[in-house]
This record gives sequence, structure tokens and C-alpha cells, in this order.
Amino acid sequence: MQKLSKIAVLTSGGDAPGMNPCIRAVVRTAIYNGLQVTGVRQGYQGLIDNNMYEMNNRSVSNILNLGGTILKTARCLPFRTDEGMEIAYNNLRARGIDGLVVIGGDGTFTGALRFSKKYPDIAVMGVPGTIDNDLYGSTYTLGFDTATNTVIEAIDKIRDTADAHDRLFFIEVMGRDSGAIALRAGISCGAEAILLPEKETAIEELIVSLKAGQYNKKSSSIVIVAEGDKHGGVYDIAKAVEKEVKNYDIKVTILGHLQRGGSPSSFDRILGSRLGYAAVNALIAGKTQQMVGLQANNIVSTDLEEALNQHEFKLEDDLMQMMEILSI
Ligand code: ATP
Repeated sequence: MQKLSKIAVLTSGGDAPGMNPCIRAVVRTAIYNGLQVTGVRQGYQGLIDNNMYEMNNRSVSNILNLGGTILKTARCLPFRTDEGMEIAYNNLRARGIDGLVVIGGDGTFTGALRFSKKYPDIAVMGVPGTIDNDLYGSTYTLGFDTATNTVIEAIDKIRDTADAHDRLFFIEVMGRDSGAIALRAGISCGAEAILLPEKETAIEELIVSLKAGQYNKKSSSIVIVAEGDKHGGVYDIAKAVEKEVKNYDIKVTILGHLQRGGSPSSFDRILGSRLGYAAVNALIAGKTQQMVGLQANNIVSTDLEEALNQHEFKLEDDLMQMMEILSI
């Protein structure tokens, strides 16, 4: 096993609060262990454009509290091609880099694994960073906790006005393929119903439960719709319900990108720190083509191949059932 001397770190895909604490941990753990660290700007695009800079302990001062990512992120089409990967590889080798930490979601890991299979002399370690919480191998991903808290704060405010006016609100939250944010936020805010991409809910069923809520003297109702719900857009769903559920003023709110921003929660700062620290230590130990993750409050490594093959968010049916009972 050749000794690692210089690593690079990048953030890729959608930004997620907690990426900055993770970058800080990567840089400081590496330097503590005598490694040099290069920061790559704009994800894989920065590897291709040679948009990188040398980092030191001060490069990551006062970033623990910042949302987004100081390294910037991007969706990079050229990295999907063999030519793009070759340019990235040559740029890394020219800088003497032999280890790479990638912080991102499943697309980022797919790219990292392909790259590492082509160029195994650069070790890669993944860190799960996505607000969607949809990666196998880690119970929680970076950014999910903060994003859920942001959604909860917004929905609490909407509940105040919904209650004052006897309103029914449909609130769209992020999660094209994953209902994780919708489910947690729904339980936390006492939503009357949650529509998720993983579970088909008939509109008729929704109408029956909203009417039951009215019969039970509920003065407001909140339906959370994950953006990937099978029924289409939140406006279509609201329209279909409006025809059947009377005596409610129906409103729609799309929370949108505000869900990505904001200062990382304590949980995400600690998770980012633990995962960044573990990723560098794993590279030093000679590991590659793996991701670090949190399981039963322990940091563990999973092969990227396995993580990507098993990739499927398992809807927590027990939580869904509990939510339905508690919101009656
Ligand atoms: P999020 O979950 O927040 O969307 P993600 O990592 O899944 O994050 P993607 O946009 O899917 O986000 O992927 C990030 C980047 O990874 C892509 O822009 C691309 O550069 C790279 N990538 C994705 N799939 C591949 C692939 N098959 N081969 C090479 N690179 C890939």
C-alpha cells in the first residue's frame, strides 16, 4: 500500500447544510495527519477546469455555521464522459493528489465509483450529503435534519394563519424521489395527511379523511405533498380536493429553495464533523470506493457498489401509520 500524501475534497450535486462542517473536518483531519489538502470548486466541474486551491487550517475558519458550501457545487455533464474523466484525472495527478473525498448524493457516488474503477491509483471516499436522506448505508445524510427543521418552522407559521381562517393548506416540500422530509415534517407539525412518492394515496381517500377532520371539528388542515408525489403538482391535487371538500378556504404554498438554506443544525454540524473526520481516516487506512455513514450512532463504512445497488429509500411504514393515528 502506497502512503497517501495529498487529498482533494469537493462537494457535488445539491447543496446541503452540514457540508461546510464536513469540509472543515476533512481539511483539519488531513493536516493533523501530515497530508496536504486541495479544495475543488464546483464539484466535478472543478476537477475538469482545474479550479482548485490549496487549503490550510485557516481556509476553513468560521464556516461551521454557514449553510451552502464554501467550495460551491455543480451538476457537471462532462464528468459523465470518458474524456471528461481523463482530464479530471490528469489534473489531479499533475497536482500529486492521490486521495479524493466527495460529499454529495447518489449521482456523486456513481461518478466517484466509475472514476475510481478507471483510475484506481486515486482513492475515493464518499460522504453522504443530501437533504433527501435517501442513501443506503447511512441512517441520516448531511442536511436532512436542518432542512426538516426549516420546513417545520415554515409549516408552524402556516398553521397559525390556517387556524385563524379555517383554511386547508397544501404545502409542497422537497423530495422528488424521497418522502423523508415530508414524513418527518408531517409528524412534527401534526399534518392531517402526507402524500409521498413512495406510497400511492388515492385522492378519494384523502377527501374522506379531510371530511372526517371537518366532522371532528378541526378548524384547519394541513396536507404535505412531497414534490415527487405520483398525482402530479400540488395545484392539481388542491383543485381535485376543492371540488369535494366544502367550507374550507383552500390555499397552496410551495416552500421551494428556502428548504436548502440556513445555518446547519447541531445535529448536522456534528454529523458533518464526524463524517469528514472518518472519511480522511478511512483514506489514511488505505480504504477506497467506500462511503462513510451513520448507523446506530456509529460511523461505519459501506462499499459504494453496495450503497448504490441497494439504493432505495424504504418508507418507514410504522411512522406513517403512527402519523395517521396521531393526526385524527
Ligand atoms: P442530490 O441527491 O442532492 O441530487 P447527487 O449527488 O445525486 O445529489 P446529481 O446531480 O445526481 O446529484 O450528481 C452530481 C454529479 O455527479 C453530476 O452532476 C455528475 O457530474 C456526476 N455524476 C452523476 N452520475 C454520473 C455518472 N453516471 N457518471 C459520472 N458522473 C456522474
